[in-house]
Amino acid sequence: MNKRMETQKGHVVVLTYPAQGHINPLLQFAKRLASKGLKATLATTPYTVKSIHAEPAGVQVEPISDGFDEGGYKQAPSLQAYMESFKQAGSRTLAELIKKFSNTDAAVICIVYDSMLTWAVDVARELNIYSAAFVPVSATVFSLFRSIHHGHLHLPVNPQARLPSLPGLPPLDFSDLPSFIAEPVTHSAYLTAIMEQQSIIEENDWVFGNTFEELESELAKAMSSLWPMVMIGPMVPSAYLDQQIEGDTSYGASLWNPTSDHYLKWLDTKPLNSVIYVSFGSMVSLAANQVEEIAYGLKASNRHFLWIMKDHETEKLSMEFLRSIDDSGLILNWCNQLEVLSHWSIGCYITHCGWNSILEGLSLGVPMVGVPQWSDQPTNAKFVEDVWRVGKRAKTNEEGVVSREEIEKCISKVMVGESSEEIKRSCCQWRESARRAVSKGGSSDKNIDAFIGALLKKKSKSS
Ligand code: UDP
Repeated sequence: MNKRMETQKGHVVVLTYPAQGHINPLLQFAKRLASKGLKATLATTPYTVKSIHAEPAGVQVEPISDGFDEGGYKQAPSLQAYMESFKQAGSRTLAELIKKFSNTDAAVICIVYDSMLTWAVDVARELNIYSAAFVPVSATVFSLFRSIHHGHLHLPVNPQARLPSLPGLPPLDFSDLPSFIAEPVTHSAYLTAIMEQQSIIEENDWVFGNTFEELESELAKAMSSLWPMVMIGPMVPSAYLDQQIEGDTSYGASLWNPTSDHYLKWLDTKPLNSVIYVSFGSMVSLAANQVEEIAYGLKASNRHFLWIMKDHETEKLSMEFLRSIDDSGLILNWCNQLEVLSHWSIGCYITHCGWNSILEGLSLGVPMVGVPQWSDQPTNAKFVEDVWRVGKRAKTNEEGVVSREEIEKCISKVMVGESSEEIKRSCCQWRESARRAVSKGGSSDKNIDAFIGALLKKKSKSS
């Protein structure tokens, strides 16, 4: 029995939605809990289990079913059908997994679940154990949905009208809203799931936000007595922040693998802060004309770039551009993003503004150019430029496309001249602040300790 096993004090099952941007923070939270002496098991779908390697970090990974055990969402006829199937099969198999441990030393006392999967609350209630929702978006975005739930913000939002001012939030324009709010009809299945979260949120014993108090301080102050959220982030591997968890150098989950691993060596040959890293995360598929504009914006910047693009997406690049790249750019299907962002050669990150990517950019102090596409990304991009001041948000033209000129202009603003100096200063401050939050005695660290303390005091709901 290793040291960690000997000291395990209670067992928590962490349930994730099977997408990269959900697995990463939930697995990281499971690892944090394990590092503090709890037994943590990650429950995920069978086709993602093999891509997760968390045992060295003390986290066991167990399969539960979403009803599509070969390929998940891609096999489902619609998102709605997928969510319904996950609810049915997931409730049953999650309960079976938890029951496997009952009447043992490792009986499960709490489910921490991705807030998309609201049915986990019913499983916890049925088994008489605690439930904690894990919100994988910013507190700001969470509070916007909460405003709809409480009737302070009405759908559909009129693009021309002024938005009401909301507690703890800066004035927001229509273009800053998450797409689920701005275009509720296009995204009705997501919106339904999100509003369901809001309607049951108070039924949880805890609600965790992957954010930290300093980062969304106005909101944290305004809402502290009005909502149940406890901020515990950023959930980024310890090696990049507090360095307190031995061997915690990566998330330990990757649904794709880089087709080549020479990109770090390539970065090694480039000067300090000189390379532009471009990534739109794991889900976004850009329109062909947008790909072309980014390509020629990069070319016009006259800088080296590393661009992450799934293989089928590269078909959107013109032969003329591909032929012109030479050693100035590298296009790759996937990378270890943390290794890239922390590399000294990276001077700018063109990002879709997914929440994990934003937290990683902030934690590693990389200036950003936001090119948001959908979901919570527009709101995150607004904060990058106007609240945290760690980058620029690229503006779209009348056709909704960010032009090559705009890309080049934004790159220049974050990489050279007076504006870039201010941005770099903010980046350093936020990097320190993220580090402080998760370090021993920091706000997020204390919140996690308080959770563990309360959980162990209560121990079992039935006892
Ligand atoms: N990521 C990665 N390699 C890549 C692209 C993305 O490891 O080439 C990781 C990234 O570090 C982040 C996650 O995938 O943790 C993407 O999550 P995010 O919320 O930023 O965006 P999503 O993919 O959900 O849109």
